[in-house]
Amino acid sequence: MPFDPPADAEARRAVAPVICYPPDTLPAPDLALYLATRARAIKAAEILVPPREAACFSVPAGHFFRISSVEGPQVGDLNLWHASTLDERFYSGKTRALHGTHLTTGQRMWSSFPHLRPMATIVADTLDWYGKDRFGGSVHDVIGTRCDPYTGNLLAGGQYHHCCHSNLTRALADQTGMSLAEAEPYVHDVLNVFMCTGFTRDTGQYFMKASPVRPGDYLEFFAEIDLLGALSACPGGDCSTEHSSDAAPCYPLLIETFAPDATELNGWQSPALNRYDGSHGR
Ligand SMILES: [Zn+2]
Repeated sequence: MPFDPPADAEARRAVAPVICYPPDTLPAPDLALYLATRARAIKAAEILVPPREAACFSVPAGHFFRISSVEGPQVGDLNLWHASTLDERFYSGKTRALHGTHLTTGQRMWSSFPHLRPMATIVADTLDWYGKDRFGGSVHDVIGTRCDPYTGNLLAGGQYHHCCHSNLTRALADQTGMSLAEAEPYVHDVLNVFMCTGFTRDTGQYFMKASPVRPGDYLEFFAEIDLLGALSACPGGDCSTEHSSDAAPCYPLLIETFAPDATELNGWQSPALNRYDGSHGR
């Protein structure tokens, strides 16, 4: 039974919102320095992530990595860890609180507590023209989680093994030598690269729609700390219909890394750990 609204219900609804985390106090990246450095950086490596699989990649602090669409429209699920301390991992929820529901150039992927520092900064986004569509959809979200076999089983039964969660788990296990059971807890909520998502205005439900990505589009990052990454080429393909099955057409994703000239990045330092003293008042 819904409760009756109070007499001043409309007045309470009319209160204007306040931005929780005004971005002007966030440490700002020196994008001009990054772009000048990137212009002279040299390609160091490339990895092709097969459809419905994931692959790991390493990027030292101060280097760049680019995720590109090749062959056909495809969404990717990205995890990041500190290269030597997997407990420091990407924190999707706090990144969303700091920057909003979708990321683009100049925004950052932040790490988990107690570290809370920038892991990577977006330096180029060929889909930045998309903005917000009339459904409230936008690209590169930090509102989704990652498709996984548990939710798939809950909703439809069955045993599907190529959801992004399982792909990322296998890739991390293969990269580190951990067992699947050891690796799985390190897999975390993702940056949904190229995915077009939002919340319906009337019911607030999470939606996806065909990604506007096309071969040649890319999202490029500057690594703020030494990174281990894993990228899954989602079984949803462009996520226009369904995921958690082999039904959607799927394509590879290309990861390239770029090394800066040794004389570049003057004045830049890898961000320090968060300075909260950790005492929690005791
Ligand atoms: Zn997925």
